Amino acid sequence: LLSLSRSISQSSTDSYSSAASYTDSSDDETSPRDKQQKNSKGNADFCIKNIKQADFGRREIEIAEQEMPALMALRKRAQGEKPLAGAKIVGCTHITAQTAVLMETLSALGAQCRWAACNIYSTQNEVAAALAEGGFSVFAWKGESEDDFWWCIDRCVNVEGWQPNMILDDGGDLTHWIYKKYPNMFKKIKGIVEESVTGVHRLYQLSKAGKLCVPAMNVNDSVTKQKFDNLYCCRESILDGLKRTTDVMFGGKQVVVCGYGEVGKGCSAALKAMGSIVYVTEIDPICALQACMDGFRLVKLNEVIRQVDIVITCTGNKNVVVREYMDRMKNGCIVCNMGHSNTEIDVASLRTPELTWERVRSQVDHVIWPDGKRIVLLAEGRLLNLSCSTVPTFVLSITATTQALALIELYNAPEGRYKQDVYLLPKKMGMIALCCLSSIKRSVLCNKPSI
Ligand code: NAD
Repeated sequence: LLSLSRSISQSSTDSYSSAASYTDSSDDETSPRDKQQKNSKGNADFCIKNIKQADFGRREIEIAEQEMPALMALRKRAQGEKPLAGAKIVGCTHITAQTAVLMETLSALGAQCRWAACNIYSTQNEVAAALAEGGFSVFAWKGESEDDFWWCIDRCVNVEGWQPNMILDDGGDLTHWIYKKYPNMFKKIKGIVEESVTGVHRLYQLSKAGKLCVPAMNVNDSVTKQKFDNLYCCRESILDGLKRTTDVMFGGKQVVVCGYGEVGKGCSAALKAMGSIVYVTEIDPICALQACMDGFRLVKLNEVIRQVDIVITCTGNKNVVVREYMDRMKNGCIVCNMGHSNTEIDVASLRTPELTWERVRSQVDHVIWPDGKRIVLLAEGRLLNLSCSTVPTFVLSITATTQALALIELYNAPEGRYKQDVYLLPKKMGMIALCCLSSIKRSVLCNKPSI
């Protein structure tokens, strides 16, 4: 009984973004854009849900610090020398406790930061409040509208007396906005650090078209990010995201995972370990073979679409699950996305008059066909784990350290080392990121004492 009442009361709360947010009792519906807020020092250069949650957010950040030894080590190392002195970083990432640890590290290394969210659902409001209280110019809240999203990005860059000289992006929206609205800003920008597949893809497109006017660092393809963030982060958070939103039992369920890259490998492994029957779809022959060698059934989506209980997209590609497939899914099929973009599932195609949408929980919609069949769409096709679950801090810490090192490298690089192109972080720096982890001894990792 106890556990039943707990799950019911949780299902009626407004937030599944993190365990911490369960206690967010704020039912204030006023848009943050219409609120006048100041931090305790009188600073009002931010826009967040509620500055009063700052103490709570601070505790969240302190908890995250425990699992982010690499960033904490970087802070210690940089005491005295400030490798980011004079850096003005504009950032657009998920705003979570882990990002806060990164931002506070960048600040400890000498940088000034202005920040917006790269996802309209993933902001931890209390963390944004703690950052604003700490003097950071943060423009983000959980549940932004599309218009809010661009407004927040604009507030980060369109500010009198302050111009960014570094960009830290996740998805490429911030970079794209500056290209579109303020191209002159690139005269002062020393470089872009981009985290996601999608954002990196956009950078390569710019580069190919000869339009990339500053050097960019591709963090996504750094070994440290790929092997830890994409693989282990997703392996650890896919079950959490599905369970919190649907309470589904995994054992015996038939699941199709679209894409067997790092994210797909993590999701498939977690579900297999829980006793699900996992099918994989792939377009790349090597990854397809890997799926087979790992014991998964390689299929075409249309072969299994009628029978599966859960569909998970992990491709970073567009229109992987289109309306035609959703028409054929069985009643109750859960559909979600673990890739970056919200276009992997063609959600727009479900906004037609004959289909009824029913919001059954925060981030959970039932889309109902005229014959009564319903599919369960999670987070409106946006990234499931960052919208509906927590992700392990330790893996995020490796990515965050890689981002910090990439910023330091680009900011301090002598003229001419990097041209107007997309670069991978030098492998040596990736190794440093790993070595910063206090739980791993350097001697175990490195044969060469010079690293
Ligand atoms: P990846 O390139 O290693 O894997 C993607 C795989 O999908 C590739 O093997 C590709 O061949 C396959 N693919 C592409 N189109 C396909 C299609 N139509 N059908 C079947 N397979 C297809 O990339 P990754 O590191 O696994 O990342 C995938 C996506 O997940 C990216 O968008 C990335 O930004 C995102 N991501 C999400 C998280 C998270 O926490 N949810 C973490 C890291 C990355």
